[in-house]
Amino acid sequence: MLKKHNFGAGPCILPPSVMEKAAQAVMNWNGLGLSILEVSHRSPEFEDVVLKTQLLVRELLSVPDNYAVIFMQGGASMQFSMVPMNFLTAEKKGAYLDTGYFALKAIKEAKLFGEVEVIASSKDRDYAHIPDQDYNNQQAAYLHCTSNNTIEGTEIFDFPKNDIPLVCDMSSDIFSRKINVSDFDLIYAGAQKNMGPAGMTLIIAKNEFLSQAKKEVPSMMDYSLFRDNMSMYNTPPVFSIYVAMLNLLWLKDQGGVNGIELQNIEKAKLLYQEIDRNPLFKGTADIEHRSRMNVTFKAIDKEAEVAFFKFAADQGLVGIKGYRTVGGFRASLYNALPLASVEALVNAMAEFEISYSRKNVTETA
Ligand SMILES: *Cc1c(COP(=O)(O)O)cnc(C)c1O
Repeated sequence: MLKKHNFGAGPCILPPSVMEKAAQAVMNWNGLGLSILEVSHRSPEFEDVVLKTQLLVRELLSVPDNYAVIFMQGGASMQFSMVPMNFLTAEKKGAYLDTGYFALKAIKEAKLFGEVEVIASSKDRDYAHIPDQDYNNQQAAYLHCTSNNTIEGTEIFDFPKNDIPLVCDMSSDIFSRKINVSDFDLIYAGAQKNMGPAGMTLIIAKNEFLSQAKKEVPSMMDYSLFRDNMSMYNTPPVFSIYVAMLNLLWLKDQGGVNGIELQNIEKAKLLYQEIDRNPLFKGTADIEHRSRMNVTFKAIDKEAEVAFFKFAADQGLVGIKGYRTVGGFRASLYNALPLASVEALVNAMAEFEISYSRKNVTETA
């Protein structure tokens, strides 16, 4: 079994039972005498995997029947281009909520395809909060938001409510909490944070919205074409989809999204409590917008930061370095991270408080 506590932001931890089954399928899939890595994506066995994975997505997120569930490649980053390529027109612009690094990347790409309006931004305070927005402009083709800001550690708990089609990048919190799919027209998510290994992108889109897409887009960027070909217009990421299926089955065993949400709330609460209690650490996001998936915090100074990285690494706590542009710490608490790992981190922080303070007292004495 793996011995490290993996707080990595993505690709991230998957349940050990999923990895075991995936490893088995690499050697001999379902007793077929073939590896999952070498089967035809057109085989009935694999078509069954795609179908099952789609059904699991529908079941776990209560996706309404008038929505399509599509698997593509290119990651969430390709969606940054695909959404505006399909939906921006000469008459209609893209409205964007600027809540951090990935939102800005989406904005940058959209500008290649049409007019973009940033309707609210939290840049003024280093993206430590979700900005208020009150927008209802019928000249907008859609409003784009990022449900969880993976790098800055903020999460949207109140989604914009208006008549504009809502498009959401849910890469880092999909399947971590209940959502009301019908509030959105298009949801996309790179798989590697809560759904499975890297390589596939999930899209959940209202069929009516897809029918408004431009017709003259490349086939590989055509949502309806992928939907109508069961996500197999070209060779799909077979292994990624298979492991995502295993992971969603695991999630179902955890009581589904409702069950995992309770665990995620408990894990985040435990860590934030320690951050707020421990005088050596400080949270970076506003309390009401704190992410349950990516917990960002800082040490009181650079020296304590360096010392804690080493202290934590010695205890097998890995992946807690903040993103390179932000610094400090980021502990990602995705679905598969057990409560025991959060407890290990919290204990390490408390032990560090004692040993580090003692060391500083001795040094200054
Ligand atoms: C990780 C992440 C991305 C980038 O995903 P890729 O699959 O690497 O393109 C985009 N948006 C958010 C919110 C993310 O967390």
